[in-house]
Amino acid sequence: SISIHWFRQDLRLADNPALTAAADSDQVLPVYILDDQHSGEFAPGEASQWWLHHSLASLNQSLNAKLNLYKGDPLTILIELCCRLNVTKVFWNRCYEPWQMSRDIQIKQLLNGAGIHAQSFNASLLSEPWTVLKNDNTPYKVFTPYYQRAYATAQPDSVALPAPASLNCLHDDRQSLPLDDLQLQPNVCWYGGLEKSWCPGEQGAQTALHGFLEHGLAHYKEGRDFPAQDNVSRLSPHLHFGEISPQQVWRHADKTVDGNNIEHFKRELMWREFSYYLLYHWPKLPRENLKSAFDHFPWQDNPAWLSLWQQGLTGYPLVDAGMRELWQTGFMHNRVRMVTASFLVKNLLIHWRHGAAWFWDCLVDADLASNSASWQWVAGCGTDASPYFRIFNPVTQGEKFDPDGAYTRRFVPELQHLPDKYLFKPWEAPAEVLENARVTLGEDYPMPVVDIKTSRQTALDALQASKDFQ
Ligand code: FAD
Repeated sequence: SISIHWFRQDLRLADNPALTAAADSDQVLPVYILDDQHSGEFAPGEASQWWLHHSLASLNQSLNAKLNLYKGDPLTILIELCCRLNVTKVFWNRCYEPWQMSRDIQIKQLLNGAGIHAQSFNASLLSEPWTVLKNDNTPYKVFTPYYQRAYATAQPDSVALPAPASLNCLHDDRQSLPLDDLQLQPNVCWYGGLEKSWCPGEQGAQTALHGFLEHGLAHYKEGRDFPAQDNVSRLSPHLHFGEISPQQVWRHADKTVDGNNIEHFKRELMWREFSYYLLYHWPKLPRENLKSAFDHFPWQDNPAWLSLWQQGLTGYPLVDAGMRELWQTGFMHNRVRMVTASFLVKNLLIHWRHGAAWFWDCLVDADLASNSASWQWVAGCGTDASPYFRIFNPVTQGEKFDPDGAYTRRFVPELQHLPDKYLFKPWEAPAEVLENARVTLGEDYPMPVVDIKTSRQTALDALQASKDFQ
């Protein structure tokens, strides 16, 4: 018998339940389909496409060049493959983006209706979103009670599922496309910084995990807030593409001895779970404010400010460092994501969806659940959001979390000679200090685009006005 394993966000061989099920057949057709028909505005952004290209190349290598690639409508492609190659079973691991879920339900029904066995598995969450409910069977809206309930069910089986021992893979010589034909790798080579920063693929994920367990985890609880320190795992893109499962990460973390830091790290993995949970129960999460009080918020339509923010030219060094890190490496440290997002939404008064769209295009870990939930959290319109009046101050955040300026100076080198005292507020530096540091504000580095205090007050007034409107 022949089975299809349909790879999606599970680009790995180990701990892959659908692949293991497919491996029971005499032959397996490993398939990846770039679905450009259903994804619409949530098609992968440019940085994600770069990652996907390399992750598929790596998976293909692990499958001895037997990965079959297609582009188009998965239903048409799967049905055609089943008919042409006499496939009797199709297996895949579940995805949770609303557009993928509705498509997959339809595909399962149609395949089953055509007499083809279609079966899906969980391979990317510690618990399925529908299994964690309050006593009244409604979903949690607040993280902490969710976490307390979900933590117990999140424990993975102690034994990991190994990569299938034998996988007799079939290659569709007739229709499978060369990787370059998916056109994920752009012609203009803007991705040099990404190549230097990342190693996509299952092996790269394992290397990142073990590097973190050996060197980062020991000081994770405190260190995770300091962007210049190597205490975070940088596993997010690997998790997003399923090159590693959260179960694998959890199990390995549990094997280390440092309880306090591990619990903190696992709590962050649970934030990822919670984001998927919110997306599953509130599919409008990427598009609409979860708190409708924000529907009347007077967002500013200011393309010039949006562009300064995107380019890292706001005149606030920590914000600019974060936005340039994003552009140059496809990543931004979590602390700085919060600061840059807060600045866009609460100091520039620009709608969070513009920020989410830019992150979507630039992040290698762009993830519909985590990105949407995090932006709503920062903007104050999510279910369990940071209160609107909590406005991150980019000056004090810089002084606190980048005290010697190592992170900021790395990405804003034009300020590298400015003393720490003025690094996060260069406009306060006396003329001779600026001169010694060889900085002319407005020429080498911009003046602040807005005043922090007055823009903060404008934001608070705007919120009050939108509440009064109701
Ligand atoms: P670690 O600190 O090592 O954490 C381990 C894992 O836990 C991460 O890999 C990630 O999967 C998960 N995690 C950690 N923090 C969070 C969080 N706050 N929310 C959800 N999951 C978390 N994360 C994404 O994966 N994709 C996104 O598109 C994304 N967009 C974001 C947008 C904004 C405005 C903000 C404030 C945060 C966003 N995050 C997103 C969450 C978080 O910033 C990243 O997951 C984290 O920085 C990844 O780095 P790491 O792997 O080193 O994290």
